[in-house]
Amino acid sequence: MIAASATSSSSVVAASFPASKPSRGRPLHSFSPSFPSFLNIRRRPSSSLHIVAAHHSVDVVVVGAGVIGLTIARQLLTSSDLSVAVVDKAVPCAGATGAGQGYIWMSHKTPGTDIWELSVRSQGLWEQLADSICGEGLDPADVIGWKKTGSLLIGNTIEESIILQQRVKQFVEASVAAEYLSSDDLMLEEPDLTVSKESGAAFLPNDSQLDAKQTVAFIQKGNRNFISQGRYAEFFHNPVKSLLRSVGKSEVEGIVTTKHTVLGKKAVVVAAGCWSGLLMDELLKETDIGVDIPVKPRKGHLLVLENCDVLQVNHGLMEVGYVNHQRAKADIGTISDPVNDDQLSISMTATIDVHGNLVLGSSRQFVGFCDKVDKSVIDRIWKRAGEFFPKLKDINLDEVDKNSEVRIGLRPYMPEGKPVIGLVPGLSNLFVAAGHEGSGLCLALGTAEMIVDMILRNPAKHYICHLILEESRYLFSKSSGILRSYNNASV
Ligand SMILES: Cc1cc2nc3c(=O)[nH]c(=O)nc-3n(C[C@H](O)[C@H](O)[C@H](O)COP(=O)(O)OP(=O)(O)OC[C@H]3O[C@@H](n4cnc5c(N)ncnc54)[C@H](O)[C@@H]3O)c2cc1C
Repeated sequence: MIAASATSSSSVVAASFPASKPSRGRPLHSFSPSFPSFLNIRRRPSSSLHIVAAHHSVDVVVVGAGVIGLTIARQLLTSSDLSVAVVDKAVPCAGATGAGQGYIWMSHKTPGTDIWELSVRSQGLWEQLADSICGEGLDPADVIGWKKTGSLLIGNTIEESIILQQRVKQFVEASVAAEYLSSDDLMLEEPDLTVSKESGAAFLPNDSQLDAKQTVAFIQKGNRNFISQGRYAEFFHNPVKSLLRSVGKSEVEGIVTTKHTVLGKKAVVVAAGCWSGLLMDELLKETDIGVDIPVKPRKGHLLVLENCDVLQVNHGLMEVGYVNHQRAKADIGTISDPVNDDQLSISMTATIDVHGNLVLGSSRQFVGFCDKVDKSVIDRIWKRAGEFFPKLKDINLDEVDKNSEVRIGLRPYMPEGKPVIGLVPGLSNLFVAAGHEGSGLCLALGTAEMIVDMILRNPAKHYICHLILEESRYLFSKSSGILRSYNNASV
């Protein structure tokens, strides 16, 4: 065993892994033309700077240290004896995950849709995790910011209220505890909220919330416990540039970053959020395999008022427009949606987190990969919140500025509102887990379980069938341009 070397100690936390050799003695081919076809990669950038890539070898390489990548690593570490490396171009929470409001909710999911079973499973796994933290004598509120507040999905018009009544019926039929609240009942639950007589809400008492950053820190800490066993390593500030592949084989052998070569003997998983589509294009550019993953960034702003005591918010709140907008986009969206289509929507969301911060949201917007604060969007979030909470109208946003934080994240949006989770056809060990849009925190543990079941070739759970990547629409042969059908290529 040798210790993995690092070009920068701050960027790599590495276990002791076996010295890397060309797997099974075969020469390796890097898809990137800038790398030669053998493992002793010496990368010569155009300047005289000479970088020697360090080599590491694990069973599974996970690309992306957002909530999806880190929970996949966690699932591998806790349910198998495989070793794992997580590679990120930045650090955990640098992507959408760090901006998440933290809703672990069923109320904005619809029974019977493609992601319903995954959502149910995933929420159950989060609850198990919270219980296991309790079982260790700790408070999940302190550890992951866990609060079982219940959720209120609020309708503003008679039409929306009727939809919510139907929705509650659907939830109850699907064995999810739910209740319809009239506007009077709603205001009893939330005294600071003011709604019209026509309003109503779906109340799901078992919905919860967590703190995304605390939760990621907890997962990362748990993963790091496996470093001493030589089973876990992190390569941060390491953008993945290319894949390594055996010549003539349908297997991926690992990845190459700007600084390292990391072999994944069993699998490579791409969990790079909204960057996954572009990254897959880059990784597969030297192959005939075309995987068109139409994930695109959907920017979101949240306004966080620290230690806010101006407002009482007892539950997690969301106006039903949030769901409608999501669905409307999904209905009209197509694979060829332009990425720079700036359609701003603002829907009121409100929570108080475990630290007493009031978290107000949220915006949805297609502005490419821009992650700059847009003050006009914050103004609109504030104004919309004031329409539900009149107390906020008396407060000038500029006054609270010094005690506020704006969170911005690029949600990984998929046109049909369902993530892409599965094996890349044509390659026997390259997986993708991306496109969770506004529900990645909620769906993370179920997604991790799915991917790990696929890697370990455990019997497939039935809820995976709607989500796996084997849908022919995402695949095409680059040379012929013809769509290939992989629908029967089960994992
Ligand atoms: C404002 C807002 C509020 C939200 N609220 C909620 C909520 O309440 N509940 C909920 O369930 N979800 C919520 N979400 C959605 C949730 O945050 C996302 O779905 C989830 O974080 C996606 O996780 P991910 O790991 O797929 O992506 P990310 O967190 O974006 O992680 C992807 C990672 O891949 C890395 N990467 C990219 N390219 C490369 C490369 N070439 N090499 C190496 N690494 C690379 C990035 O640096 C990044 O760290 C919210 C999102 C936003 C923006």
